[in-house]
Amino acid sequence: MSTPLLISTWSFSLPIIEVEFPKLAAAGTALDVVERCARVAELDESIDSVGFGGLPDREGRCTFDAAVMTSPPESGAVCGIERHRHPVSVARLVMEQTEHSMLVGSLADDFADEHGLPSQTILSESAKLKWEAWKQTNTPPIPPPLLDDGTGELFGSHDTIGTLAIDAGGAMAGSCSSSGMAWKVPGRVGDSPIIGHGLYVDPLRGAATGTGHGELISGICGSFLIVELMGRGASPEDAIHDTLARLAECWPLKKEHQVAFVAITPEGKYAAGSLRPGFKYAVCDVNQQVVLDPTVVLHS
Ligand code: ASP
Repeated sequence: MSTPLLISTWSFSLPIIEVEFPKLAAAGTALDVVERCARVAELDESIDSVGFGGLPDREGRCTFDAAVMTSPPESGAVCGIERHRHPVSVARLVMEQTEHSMLVGSLADDFADEHGLPSQTILSESAKLKWEAWKQTNTPPIPPPLLDDGTGELFGSHDTIGTLAIDAGGAMAGSCSSSGMAWKVPGRVGDSPIIGHGLYVDPLRGAATGTGHGELISGICGSFLIVELMGRGASPEDAIHDTLARLAECWPLKKEHQVAFVAITPEGKYAAGSLRPGFKYAVCDVNQQVVLDPTVVLHS
């Protein structure tokens, strides 16, 4: 038996993981729980960078990206979904029902249709209004870094939900779901659905997931690097610190750049870190259900 742990990006995820944690502590599997956490965020219209309510690309078209993973041979992902409100469940179908690990665009939507998932409009009215307002302002497409005040309310426009879990049987799983960067170039895919970038799970070494400026995370295979460092003996905190430092070494950082990670070890140690202040994360275990500040903030 293991001590169950559920950890997720941003304070808005606390009410979600609080509901799911008891299932993890009972007979729930880590995979079912991380999928359900993402599904709840995907349907919450107030979260404007995940699922329904997510902000569209610069042409006003909304696309979703998601991934799930339980081990290096067991992962599934979709990019650029346009007709299904639960990309995380399509990603799980890719993992469980195909020999493949990623499907893209309208063909991924067709695959979801074949498996009976409902086809729906994914651009919400409020996201459309925000896009129309943005079009008027003619401001640059890269939004300022998100500020999380810990109440679940976010200011800015990065808020991918990445969730990591260990269940009572010791199995580990992760999910990551995003509508990507607001006002992106049509066709752009960020880190979230790419295994090793926005999400990586290796039961022998640990798991990590990221949020923020996807291009920066992808440039250093951020989640894989954290897990690899933990596998070589680093604590989650040190692995995140060294990964953020690597990122800062590689990129000429701009003030609008923000990246954050959460990570867990197979034994249930965990940490979070971000490039700049403003990131928070949520943790549920047998002792606590809390929103925490990251222990690592590279540029404070
Ligand atoms: N990481 C996501 C992406 O770049 C966005 C985010 O976390 O808000 O697509």
